[in-house]
Amino acid sequence: MTGKTHILGGIAASLAVAHTANENPLIMVGAGIAGALLPDICHSGSLIGKKFPILSRIINLIFGHRTFTHSLLFLVLASFLIDRFFPNDVLKYGLLTGMVSHYILDMATKRGIKLFFPLSLTVRFPLTIRTGSKIENLIFSILTLISFYFGYESLSWFGVGF
Ligand SMILES: [Zn+2]
Repeated sequence: MTGKTHILGGIAASLAVAHTANENPLIMVGAGIAGALLPDICHSGSLIGKKFPILSRIINLIFGHRTFTHSLLFLVLASFLIDRFFPNDVLKYGLLTGMVSHYILDMATKRGIKLFFPLSLTVRFPLTIRTGSKIENLIFSILTLISFYFGYESLSWFGVGF
């Protein structure tokens, strides 16, 4: 998936969680976007890889693409590190939600992800799509609609009710 689809996936998912859990949507979305971009640190051409080129190269060299940073192990590690250094539940759940949205979107591509790294099992959906294809554009449009819906619903959190 392209970076913009991942960003929108993170926005849609974190807004949905913020609405369901009645948490601050702004913090949740900020963390959700960060979480949605974080796994692709293993790829130097990605949005986050371009921001941290050296770190990205090192991770890619050690683990390759879509392995460790696309695994449950990385999710647990991220959760542990946030608890340790930025103990804030909204921040944590936003970030983890964004990461999970990234995993799910990448599981919809042919390459899949190594969800159970260090096991080499590739996890993907039975039906997959090509990155940048028309179907991805469709998914992008659906995620936009979901984001608008939950964004609108989240207005109530600020006391702006309709
Ligand atoms: Zn990815």
